[in-house]
Amino acid sequence: MPLVLYNSATRRKEPFEPIDPQRVRMYVCGPTVYDRAHIGNGRAFVVFDVLYRLLRDIYGRDHVRYVRNITDVEDKINAAARANGEPIAALTARTAAAFHDDMAALGVLPPDVEPRATDHIAQMIAMIERLIASGHAYVANGNEEAGHVLFAVASDPGYGRLSGRSRDEMIAGARVEVAPYKRDPADFVLWKPSEPDVPGWDSPWGRGRPGWHIECSAMSEAHLGESFDIHGGGLDLIFPHHENEIAQSVCAHQGRPFVRYWVHNGFLSIDAAKMSKSLGNFFTVRELLDEGPGEAIRLALLSAHYRDPLDWTSERLRRARQTLDRFYRALTLSRDPVFERFGEADEALRPVKEALEDDLNTPLAVTRLHELVGAINRTSSDAVRSALQRALEEGGRLMGLLEQDPLAWLRGSSEADERRIEEQIALRAAARGQRHFAEADKIRAALAADGILLEDKPDGTTTWWRKD
Ligand code: AMP
Ligand code: ZN
Repeated sequence: MPLVLYNSATRRKEPFEPIDPQRVRMYVCGPTVYDRAHIGNGRAFVVFDVLYRLLRDIYGRDHVRYVRNITDVEDKINAAARANGEPIAALTARTAAAFHDDMAALGVLPPDVEPRATDHIAQMIAMIERLIASGHAYVANGNEEAGHVLFAVASDPGYGRLSGRSRDEMIAGARVEVAPYKRDPADFVLWKPSEPDVPGWDSPWGRGRPGWHIECSAMSEAHLGESFDIHGGGLDLIFPHHENEIAQSVCAHQGRPFVRYWVHNGFLSIDAAKMSKSLGNFFTVRELLDEGPGEAIRLALLSAHYRDPLDWTSERLRRARQTLDRFYRALTLSRDPVFERFGEADEALRPVKEALEDDLNTPLAVTRLHELVGAINRTSSDAVRSALQRALEEGGRLMGLLEQDPLAWLRGSSEADERRIEEQIALRAAARGQRHFAEADKIRAALAADGILLEDKPDGTTTWWRKD
């Protein structure tokens, strides 16, 4: 089955046909480096990492070019540096390094190219000049507003094609700024003047800095060309960011097509609420790595379909971890590499691949890995078991899972598990001491649901064992 992807531009699933199968090209909007990545950002980058792995599997490692940028010039960065009393370059370098650590912990592969906005200012200026020359952009007049260059939305008859928004909706949109220097309220900034204390570059319009949208148009053009296959990001980027990228790129390229498939991941919420710092339900990837291994976080992020909303709960993480325990345990059963070379492994892997090729259906792919594990546990044939183990490993790898040594995982996981169980037993003892028996029973029941049984000894201590 060929790869099928939901295309936000056409609002339907479409067979994926690359412009050049020898050179499949994907661009994903990367992080703005002013703060640590949160788990919602983690979801976006894990999802596109699965797509990257799948494309490499289908077209060959050397025939896929994945570009994910780093936005290191943006007003949020300037504000954060000011708030921290830290030089901007130090903040962006520190945050970009932390981002790389977090992504590595989640098993996200580095992209083929990771361009930085500040290394592409010349390309942005050149693109803006082309837009001005072709009547798609204008320099705002007037003293106070000197140095602003705006994209003229009315000059692009196709504007709104991605988001499907009407003009009125666009203007009313929360992120459209009405400003006196705009000819039309829907026009957006390509270049703006920089005060002496913020980063700026010399340009035909004075010392200034780019708007956010032009960054991605210039970087994708520099590394993937005018037209490429896939452009990704979270749903929130459809408007205005991606709508504006299309307008800039199509108009700078005399109407030639920009992107074939627009792919957007759904949003992550926490305990059914929008993630927000002020509500106190905001988790960075770093914080969650204290709660569970990166691989379990990754699996939890892939346990919902990427276009669906995903509600993050500690229960979801716990279940992901149990699943990995089960998968890794199956990989420790006796195995004979001789049998892994036969066709059965490929045969057994096919249903996993088919699930992923159907618009990245990771929940179904995980269900199919569970089925493989069931078969591994049941079979008495060494040959069959070995082939199925190979398929399990390969299927996991396509999703960036099961890449560790199984014994190392199981050892690490059970140590952490034991610590957690001991903590729960101590909490239960404390509850009983205060005669909070309902609370104590709740803890016992929660452990029992995990397969952990408790036994209270006459001397007042409690021991536990695993039901299995
Ligand atoms: P940002 O650095 O804010 O531009 O975000 C980086 C990526 O994370 C973008 O693709 C966003 O769309 C995505 N993103 C941000 N918040 C969430 C969320 N809560 N759930 C899923 N994706 C998100
Ligand atoms: Zn972008």
